Amino acid sequence: MKFTVCKNYDEMSDKAARIVNSAIKSYPEITLGLATGSTPLGLYKRMIEAYNAGEISFKKVKSFNLDEYCGLTRDNSQSYYYFMRRNLFDHIDIDMNNVEVPNCEVSDYQAECERYDKKIEENGGIDIQILGIGNNGHIAFNEPEEALYAKTHHTPLTRSSIEANKRFFNSIDEVPTSAITMGIESIMKARKIIILISGVKKHAALTKLLSGRITTGCPATILNCHPDCCVLADEEAYHG
Ligand code: PGA
Repeated sequence: MKFTVCKNYDEMSDKAARIVNSAIKSYPEITLGLATGSTPLGLYKRMIEAYNAGEISFKKVKSFNLDEYCGLTRDNSQSYYYFMRRNLFDHIDIDMNNVEVPNCEVSDYQAECERYDKKIEENGGIDIQILGIGNNGHIAFNEPEEALYAKTHHTPLTRSSIEANKRFFNSIDEVPTSAITMGIESIMKARKIIILISGVKKHAALTKLLSGRITTGCPATILNCHPDCCVLADEEAYHG
């Protein structure tokens, strides 16, 4: 793991964008693993800016999102599919046929999970995976538990994740209670990982990640085993 402390959120987003945009430039057929949440928004903004400046094109880029809420249709403004359109896809020239987000509108979640893993595999895997981290140390919706799942799976959300995400909903009762999420194996198979960690609320999770001790109680700690993982954190997250 390569760890960098950035002055603030903007510097963290700049550094991430430099890596991602230059990778797209040198390999236009790249497959990106994308994350939702507040943290990658600065990165997405910079990717859109680079596209608008004519520096990069997403025409041949493929993407897989980490997760999706169950119980929301894709046209619900709180779905992750909608989030990705609003914050990235609608502003760039990506072919929506090359975009994958777990589809929770299906009746058979297990079949969708299997389809998703197969699709990633058939695609030849993920080149760069963008990650955020939960206050509780989750990556995607791999929540702290006694055991973690390797494959894409349907999972209940912990109280901590529901609490953290209620800010996007009118009330906590509207927050979905389960999701389909990529598992640890799909994430760890990405050739490169960039994990973005910003703000004081992430201090405890970052401290655990940097301790070098791997525990399912903080799923992000598994990243210590990845051969090319870049941790970009801001000073607030680092110093707490
Ligand atoms: P956030 O979410 O970027 O909104 O803090 C990150 C996460 O839960 O993985």
